[in-house]
Amino acid sequence: MKKLLPTSTAGSLPKPAWLAEPETLWSPWKLQNEELVEGKQDALRLSLEDQQQTGIDIVSDGEQTRQHFVTTFIEHLSGVDFEKRETVRIRNRYDASVPTVVGAVSRPKPVFADDAKFLRQQTDKPIKWALPGPMTMIDTLYDSHYKSREKLAWEFAKILNQEARELEAAGVDIIQFDEPAFNVFFDEVNDWGIATLERAIEGLKCETAVHICYGYGIKANTDWKKTLGSEWRQYESIFPQLQKSNIDIVSLECHNSHVPMDLLELIRGKKVMVGAIDVASNIIETPEEVANTLRKALKFVDADKLCPCTNCGMAPLSRHVAKAKLAALNAGAEIIRRELSA
Ligand SMILES: [Zn+2]
Repeated sequence: MKKLLPTSTAGSLPKPAWLAEPETLWSPWKLQNEELVEGKQDALRLSLEDQQQTGIDIVSDGEQTRQHFVTTFIEHLSGVDFEKRETVRIRNRYDASVPTVVGAVSRPKPVFADDAKFLRQQTDKPIKWALPGPMTMIDTLYDSHYKSREKLAWEFAKILNQEARELEAAGVDIIQFDEPAFNVFFDEVNDWGIATLERAIEGLKCETAVHICYGYGIKANTDWKKTLGSEWRQYESIFPQLQKSNIDIVSLECHNSHVPMDLLELIRGKKVMVGAIDVASNIIETPEEVANTLRKALKFVDADKLCPCTNCGMAPLSRHVAKAKLAALNAGAEIIRRELSA
């Protein structure tokens, strides 16, 4: 029988200090060449070990082999010039100097397939692999070639599909697309955002997920969240179409969130990775707090479709805080498993 409420994480986990500067996004590597390759693999194994020790059921690489959840993938593509930079507004929220799309984009070779094979060799547990979604990718670039957000998104969707098929062949059980841009550009999400995501998963037999969120606990995000009011109903405009899509799983932040839990009713039928761990705080949740969030979610998500999860990636946290939070997640899930089986 399948385990009820299998726990997972939304994405990144902290890296060891010998590999990259801790508690920092875009942290530069501290190793080079062969040492870096080996260091990344060691870090992946440690990250996996932390997940297994804390009872996480659906494990990942903790994104130990990438610097950033979007940039690292794009760095492996041709058609994007990282030397030629322009300042653009990311998700209508903060300015950043970004690379330029200078020609047709393509993927000369697989990006994460070897890392995924390595992870597969290390564990028998189901594994989840994260890729950036097409809309979030275009939102981190200046486009001087296609001059159309939609066209570029379709191109990225084709590339993501090639990558996803190889990850599936490497033994990945769930491929997740990170689309934080989905809670900013609602009209585009409905016009072509979900459609490009469906292009990215075309032909896959493994499960697929989309992670939508309000971002890491960095200042630009926490400032933006203050402007959103007391109830965040942004998902209301995109959930109906997401519900009708081919995506199997939706990953969302639910703990310490202003997203009204009843919005989950709009995606009833999908599996939901319910974020029950706040990644923007160093305070460790108690198992009972985790259980409370899961109980609320269970009113709108069928028990056999609920995966307790973190709100977002945990890369900016310290390793001991992240590990304690994973343990709390599992302990909270265990409380609800007992309640459900009583
Ligand atoms: Zn996130």
